Amino acid sequence: TEHFERWKRNCGILRIQVPATAAELTEITSELCRRNGFRSDVYVRPLAYKSSARIGIAPDENDSFSITALPFGQYFGGRGIKAGVTSWRRVDDNAIPGRAKICGAYVNSVLAGDEARRNGHDEAIFLTDDGHVAEGASCNLFMVRDGKLITPPVTDNILEGITRASVMELAAYELGLEVVQRSIDRSELYVCDEVFFTGTAVEVVPVIQIDHRPVGTGKVGSITNSFSALYHDATHGRLTRYEHWMTPVGQAVLAQAV
Ligand code: PMP
Repeated sequence: TEHFERWKRNCGILRIQVPATAAELTEITSELCRRNGFRSDVYVRPLAYKSSARIGIAPDENDSFSITALPFGQYFGGRGIKAGVTSWRRVDDNAIPGRAKICGAYVNSVLAGDEARRNGHDEAIFLTDDGHVAEGASCNLFMVRDGKLITPPVTDNILEGITRASVMELAAYELGLEVVQRSIDRSELYVCDEVFFTGTAVEVVPVIQIDHRPVGTGKVGSITNSFSALYHDATHGRLTRYEHWMTPVGQAVLAQAV
C-alpha cells in the first residue's frame, strides 16, 4: 500500500491521476497474485500513463494504468557486490525528477548500469551534478562511518525509497543506530567502514568494493549483515512488529481454463 501511496503522489508530478485508491490498487494486486497462483517471490510493476491515441508531447487528460506481476529471484545473486562511480550524472530534479519513477529517466540508470558492468562492477553509483553521492542505478545507498548510518538526503536527486525508510525504522528500533541524512562525498566511500544498497528488488545488498578499492575490510560488515537479516525476516513475516508492512494475498485461485 505504501508503494501505491507513493505512486499516486508522484503521478501528480506528471499530472496523471490514477483512477483507483491505494487500497483498491492493493486489492487488485492481491487478486493478480491469487489468480497467478505464484509459489515464489514476485515483482509487481504498476505503470501509469497518458492513454489517448494521439500524436504530440502535451499530456492529455486521459489516464490509465496497468499492473504486471512476475516471479522474481535475487537481483544480485545474494552476495557482496562491486560498485563503481559512473561518469553519467544522476538526472537532476529540474530536468526529470528522480523522486518519481518516471520511465524515461531510467535511460539514465541504464547508461550508468551498463557502463558499470562493462568496467567490471555489478552496480553503478551516481553522483549529483555538484558531485555528491546520490544513489545506485536501481537502489538507494547507505554508508556506515564511525558507528553512524549515513544516507544522502532526499534533496540529492534520489528516489525516496520505501526500503530506505524501512531500513531507517529498523536502525532506530532494532539496532539503536543513529541515522544521519546528509550529502556524502565520493571519497568518503573509500574511507568508510561499510556500504550497502537498498531497494524493493535488491532488498539489502552489501557493497564490498567501490572503484576497485575494498570497502572497509573488503568483507561484508556486521551492521550490513544485521540489516540484511532483519529486513529479510521482517518482509517474510518473521518479525511481528513489522506485520503492518505486509498485505496477506490469500489462497491462490487459479483462473479456470476456458
Ligand atoms: N533508486 C532507484 C533509482 C530505484 O529504481 C529504486 C528501486 N525502484 C530505488 C532507489 C529503491 O526504492 P524502493 O526501496 O522504493 O524500491
